[in-house]
Amino acid sequence: MSGFDYDLFVIGAGSGGVRAGRIAARHGARVAVAEEYRVGGTCVIRGCVPKKLFVQASKFAEEFEDAVGFGWTSSKVSFDWWTLVENKNREIDRLNKAYIRNLEAAGAELIPGRATLEGPNAVRLASGRGITARYILIATGATPFVPRHLPGHELAITSNEAFNLESLPARIVIVGSGYIAVEFAGIFSGLGVETVLVCRGGQILRGFDDDIRNHLAAEMRKKGIEIRTQAGVSSIERSGGGVRVTLNDGVSFGAGQIMFATGRIPNVMDLGLEKAGVELTPHHAVKVDDYSQTGVPSIYAVGDVTNRVNLTPVAIREGHAFADTVFGGKPVKVDHSLIPTAVFSQPEIGAVGLTEAQARGQCPAVDIYKTSFRPMRHTLSGRDGRMLMKLVVDGGTDRVLGCHICGPDAGEMAQLLGISVRLGAKKSDFDATMAVHPTAAEELVTMREKWTG
Ligand code: FAD
Ligand code: NDP
Repeated sequence: MSGFDYDLFVIGAGSGGVRAGRIAARHGARVAVAEEYRVGGTCVIRGCVPKKLFVQASKFAEEFEDAVGFGWTSSKVSFDWWTLVENKNREIDRLNKAYIRNLEAAGAELIPGRATLEGPNAVRLASGRGITARYILIATGATPFVPRHLPGHELAITSNEAFNLESLPARIVIVGSGYIAVEFAGIFSGLGVETVLVCRGGQILRGFDDDIRNHLAAEMRKKGIEIRTQAGVSSIERSGGGVRVTLNDGVSFGAGQIMFATGRIPNVMDLGLEKAGVELTPHHAVKVDDYSQTGVPSIYAVGDVTNRVNLTPVAIREGHAFADTVFGGKPVKVDHSLIPTAVFSQPEIGAVGLTEAQARGQCPAVDIYKTSFRPMRHTLSGRDGRMLMKLVVDGGTDRVLGCHICGPDAGEMAQLLGISVRLGAKKSDFDATMAVHPTAAEELVTMREKWTG
């Protein structure tokens, strides 16, 4: 592959870019990876990993309370925000270094700094240096969307800043009701912050099964989180050390912080896409085919910048498939169907497959099995928390089309249910599977009565 500086130039060292760079290098390609911020990308630096650590931190308050019912005497406990932030930062530094080591061990060259496209085979670094490559991979991820038309929007934080606040506010307003909004509502509330969620629709988590959405909202309210539906922010003003937030209905209140969790937009700004002739979708994502190839044959794109399914394992799988296709002589398409997902809300959601509403739109007959119960732990803790499990079944074929859970460890269950649903398991297969007792998951194989409403 002579004539070019590299066989592959990757822009962005996040989940997708790092995997693609490593696998391409293992296939023998000469690879360079440019990163303008920190190697590891969103997931490692300011996404999944620190988020999950914060979720774990925020659960302890309830754990201490629940322990009393099991005979523990709760001595005085206290929480120090900076211990958490510093320990989280140490873990992220460790992962960041491990990512760098792995890239270098694979033989890829890491180039710190921003890179932009100059043409189908050319990039330019922030230093001014021009580089040529036979292939270029755009793996620049996404960035928080902030509604900039709102007066005072610059006073708000996003998830990027939430991980390193100087101190916890007494009260926070979170705008949005998707993954990030509900996860951070649980984090802040668990850490003792009075939390208000402002949701523009009729219920949180649009796109999830309606029973699960209603159940989670009820459980979050039990924990003291205020959810305002059909609501929007009309303005934000500075007030004392915090902000004053005015909603569309004229209600106004003070808070220490306001956070926008209003979605994420692909990182395509000033990337030089037009110089290279790369097209965008109507949602301003890089347009690619099933092999992650753009309309320019030498340029591919993977991960959030393509706005297909914006999850870490998907970006990793797309990056791997790209490297195998282009450098491994093995064309691989990523299957974006039946992707299991977890929302690390409190309680957690785990889901795979069709919601009841989607199934009813696709199948002439749909059977629903669902159960709501008090997890065993709460019989002694005394906590008023319930778990919901639901199976959506094709009434004609008996095939399980969707599994939806809200309760402890739902994410862990979704991973395994994902295999069953992918294999085409029928409800009769669930019924024939012996229960594991005593677990919550055994309810998944012991639901016998169809839900009749
Ligand atoms: P990224 O990981 O964002 O990497 C893109 C990289 O490109 C970044 O490092 C960026 O600095 C760099 N870059 C951008 N432009 C340039 C340029 N011009 N030059 C050089 N470098 C550039 N997903 C899950 O599956 N589970 C979760 O629990 C989960 N939790 C999340 C929590 C939060 C708060 C957020 C924000 C996201 C979460 N996600 C989660 C989503 C997940 O983080 C993303 O889907 C995933 O990181 C996408 O990987 P990527 O490689 O496409 O992009
Ligand atoms: P989501 O797309 O999940 O949610 C965005 C939310 O913002 C929705 O509730 C949406 O409302 C609302 N919204 C959008 N625009 C406005 C506006 N102008 N005013 C008020 N509300 C608005 O995005 P997130 O930012 O929560 O997360 C981004 C993605 O990152 C997720 O979709 C997911 O793919 C990934 N992620 C995954 C996690 C996991 O796997 N556990 C955790 C965190 C993120 P409406 O529904 O009405 O459109």
